[in-house]
Amino acid sequence: MLPVIALVGRPNVGKSTLFNHLTRSRDALVANRPGITRDRIYGIGRVGGGGYMVVDTGGLSGEGEGIDAHMAAQTWRAVEEADAVFFLVDGREGLTAADEEVAARLRGTGKPVWLLVNKTDGLDGELACAEFHRLGLGRPHAVSAAHGRGVKAVLQRALAELPPGEPEPPEEDDAVRVAIVGRPNVGKSTLVNRLLGEERVLAYDEPGTTRDSIRIPFVRDGRRYLLIDTAGVRRRARIRDFVEKFSVVKAFQAMEAAHVVVLMVDAREGVVEQDAALAGLAVESGRAVVVAVNKWDRLPEAQRRAVGRELELRLGFLLEFAPVRRISALHGSGLEELMAAVDRAHRAATADLATPELTRILQEAVARHQPPLVRGRRIKLRYAHQGGRNPPVIVVHGNRTELLPEHYRRYLANAFREALDLFGTPVRVELRSGE
Ligand code: GDP
Ligand code: GDP
Repeated sequence: MLPVIALVGRPNVGKSTLFNHLTRSRDALVANRPGITRDRIYGIGRVGGGGYMVVDTGGLSGEGEGIDAHMAAQTWRAVEEADAVFFLVDGREGLTAADEEVAARLRGTGKPVWLLVNKTDGLDGELACAEFHRLGLGRPHAVSAAHGRGVKAVLQRALAELPPGEPEPPEEDDAVRVAIVGRPNVGKSTLVNRLLGEERVLAYDEPGTTRDSIRIPFVRDGRRYLLIDTAGVRRRARIRDFVEKFSVVKAFQAMEAAHVVVLMVDAREGVVEQDAALAGLAVESGRAVVVAVNKWDRLPEAQRRAVGRELELRLGFLLEFAPVRRISALHGSGLEELMAAVDRAHRAATADLATPELTRILQEAVARHQPPLVRGRRIKLRYAHQGGRNPPVIVVHGNRTELLPEHYRRYLANAFREALDLFGTPVRVELRSGE
């Protein structure tokens, strides 16, 4: 599971700047997608071979009232869920009383805290850090979020010093791993109970620490599935002291562990901001996605039309590859179609793609539309092979491919998707230059 790093500090110390820096290396798939890159609070970054999740927080002003109190509550929840905390202070402004308050509270959490003295570009780092030793959070690190200076070193140390996570449970070879995610009350547990209730539940894991995920194997129409970590599953498993708190971090971790994400929305409530945020994370996870529009039973015609429009408007970037199924978890209608879409998306996400076929599709796509000329010379694309599964990665080899425009890469991705019937899954095209 990806470790989670929370960014904490007063407003204006540079949290969002650092957030952007830490999550900049996201996959090309996510870049340039309208609707997900702006105002994100949760992001994914990669360093070396591993990844991490970053959570930006609203900021702690030290004021205990109104919007500030609300932001503070959100921030402390993010800290609770994090594996490590980056506490940012402003090296230009110097130490403030609010910094001391936050530091005192952070010390009480028992979380590994890294003290980052930001905005030290053009300053003597050591000098800027001197007064922050007083916070009692260990050695302050001089960084510049805006210039990326000093950030990577802290990040690598922070990741290296995390306790090793739970080993991933062994893969249930041929089982389809499904994560059902959605806001509270969209009907996740109703759906889970339907799916489990209709067929035999084989077993379930008891949760141990908060970092564990619950996985429930079940069989439906002779196919084996593994349901991953949802509130619905927990309730079903009758864990008494489990209080459901909507956790974007947990939802994301479930997505990462899945083959197929079922993103549930509530047709009665419509598609809201939080649905779009989950959809953005689903895209970041790279998983196959099926959108389940729930509570379709006896929905007035006008509301049906309204939901259709909202889906286009708010989840348009996801619907580029994700199919939509309308269901009633309560009455069990639409579940055949939903699970058929899940199976099909799973097949696509995990398909083995043969080099000769990929190369043939590439050549046909190029014959239909030549890559653009760059400085009077044509970019040549020669052959393609598979570079990964879940999601399918197709590596295209050629000359000067680094100059290939993004729109052409997307053209290729769509050509592969159509030719290979890659339904429900994102398709990644990576480019390699051979010269
Ligand atoms: P947040 O409120 O904590 O998210 O802070 P922001 O990321 O919005 O940054 C607040 C201001 O500080 C912006 O004007 C940034 O451009 C500036 N800033 C952030 N990081 C740095 C830095 O490393 N050096 C300098 N000089 N300015 C920075
Ligand atoms: P969760 O928080 O996402 O697990 O949502 P629940 O499964 O607890 O469902 C929340 C509420 O929505 C409950 O009152 C359910 O009975 C109701 N509900 C769930 N699915 C449907 C549905 O398909 N149609 C209708 N009308 N109500 C539903």
